[in-house]
Amino acid sequence: MAIPKDARIDLSLEDIPKKWYNMAADIPDLKPMIHPATKEPVKEEDFKAIFCDTIVKQELSKERFIDIPEEVRTALVNLNRPSPLQRAYRLEKYLKTPAKIYFKREDLSPLGSHKGNTALAQAYYNANSGIHTLTTETGAGQWGTALAMVSNLFDIKTTVFMVKGSFIAKPLRKTIINTYGATVYASPSEYTDFGRKVLKEHPETSGSLGIAISEACEMAAKDEHTCYALGSVMNHVMLHQTVIGEEALKQFEIGEIEPDYMIACVGGGSNFAGFTFPFLREKKNGKFKDAEVITVEPKAAPTLTKGEFKYDFGDTAGMTPLMMMYSLGSEYIPPSIHAGGLRYHGMSPLVSAVFDHHDISATSYDQTDTFQAGITFARTEGIIPAPESCHALKCAIDKALECKAKNEEKTIVFNLSGHGLLDLYGYEQALDGTLPHSGQ
Ligand SMILES: *Cc1c(COP(=O)(O)O)cnc(C)c1O
Repeated sequence: MAIPKDARIDLSLEDIPKKWYNMAADIPDLKPMIHPATKEPVKEEDFKAIFCDTIVKQELSKERFIDIPEEVRTALVNLNRPSPLQRAYRLEKYLKTPAKIYFKREDLSPLGSHKGNTALAQAYYNANSGIHTLTTETGAGQWGTALAMVSNLFDIKTTVFMVKGSFIAKPLRKTIINTYGATVYASPSEYTDFGRKVLKEHPETSGSLGIAISEACEMAAKDEHTCYALGSVMNHVMLHQTVIGEEALKQFEIGEIEPDYMIACVGGGSNFAGFTFPFLREKKNGKFKDAEVITVEPKAAPTLTKGEFKYDFGDTAGMTPLMMMYSLGSEYIPPSIHAGGLRYHGMSPLVSAVFDHHDISATSYDQTDTFQAGITFARTEGIIPAPESCHALKCAIDKALECKAKNEEKTIVFNLSGHGLLDLYGYEQALDGTLPHSGQ
């Protein structure tokens, strides 16, 4: 038997995209970010304290396509781009479904997730404008790891504020971040005014992404040569992640693949946006007309399924601009779940806008179900997915079972945003039956 042509669709180095796609160009009624003090739309100057010029320009840009610098394209090779699109033949067989299931492999980056795609671009632009240190927050640790790694490629230092709960639960993340040469503090920390304030009021807190963001921004604002880098939510991050979706479009062409479902998990929305925005552009242009594009979130942080579309802060201290987004409220601290990357109160304004336009849909799952999907994937395809990615996988499996019930040969494509080899506690609990339910 010959190896099926679509078992894995690889691209060549030259196929690393030359342009990012900026979804903001195609959302004419996108609401601007608002300055909390003046109540006016934010201007370039407002960001200067924490972001370098190019990042600010990209954040506010309405250009449809933005050139990817050759240095960034070259560095993307270090992240194993282009990433393969693979078919899950064994999973299909196990499910006895007539559906075809494909997955885009962001797990193959040495960082284990998609986050390096934007970390690279941000480190490059900051280093170019004379910034010596980047500060950032990290929840589960993937983002902090990504920034720590790429900062070496562009000679810049990194300081990471890691949500205390994860810092304690995932000590190996600290080791990785330190191995890459970066500094990591448990947040809330003693190193910022806001951290000290939170510690005084809530000494027992396990922290939150919102608190960690406030600390990282404060540190960046206080030093001229220190900037802040964000791993999700903002427009420029969605932009940098579109390399995933541009590659996927090429792979669909090569493999003659017509997706009926495009599925990705959402925390702040970046792997979803990266994977689906180029696809949504083509859909608007008349291709993939009947395809459904689906976000998947945890029941513990049901931002799109239960949140409200409103202006809200990106952090807890109220230091960020107000963003028009789906939100559970900036004070909301989601219950602790293993998919730390999906524990965020808000959602990318771009993803929020396309959801508000009904161009995409949303669904949510309990972590007990998503880990079962992960175990099934490990036993069929040999890959242990990140707890976050298990949400997209679970939805893909449900769609495949629907196809089985209706005897429909549909094509399901999901984004495997990362691997779970650093999240084995969750799998251990799932295997021994002690994994708690995650929400309502
Ligand atoms: C961070 C992370 C997510 C969630 O973040 P998004 O910005 O929504 O993509 C999902 N999967 C993995 C593996 C992550 O590391």
